[in-house]
Amino acid sequence: MIVQNLSTIFSPFSSVDFNYMKRVLEKAQEGFERGEIPIAAAIVYQNCIIALEHNWVEKRQIATAHAEMLVIEKASAILGDWRLTECTLYSSLEPCIMCMGAIMQARVKRLVWGAKDIRLGGCGSFLHVAAQAHPMHQIKISSGLFEKEAGDLLINFFQKRRRERDKRECEGDKREFGASTGPVSQASTS
Ligand SMILES: [Zn+2]
Repeated sequence: MIVQNLSTIFSPFSSVDFNYMKRVLEKAQEGFERGEIPIAAAIVYQNCIIALEHNWVEKRQIATAHAEMLVIEKASAILGDWRLTECTLYSSLEPCIMCMGAIMQARVKRLVWGAKDIRLGGCGSFLHVAAQAHPMHQIKISSGLFEKEAGDLLINFFQKRRRERDKRECEGDKREFGASTGPVSQASTS
């Protein structure tokens, strides 16, 4: 009997999953550098990435410009078919309920995602959009690939944004109150 590596037997991920998700994380990092919340997604068809995008919500100011929505649109245009039944969608974050709806609508064959979205996750963290068995389409879902790396990107982004906001507010206070007076000294004299 051939003894296989246990991690190969029990992991829901193949080596190609790791490679595709690495590309997705690189794309999320690109989004980070553009000031977007660093979330990205890719669609793979016949061992090729045919669509790769990060979120564009901030720059475009469109609530629906999530990476998953954008790659579904692009892949459908490339394949000339709204049915993505032979495609795998990789997302650095658990798709939200809107994106899970779109993924189901597009009949994506398999979904692989990284970090949990506790606030709006559509794969069980908030709601489980695919929990109910559908008579025509069943999606395969694998979660937690590069969970820490995908989550750390988001944590770093929000920490950076908070630091920048605090700095702006601090500079605003200096302009408003001057260097030697502040709201505390004003309150103490009233
Ligand atoms: Zn979404």
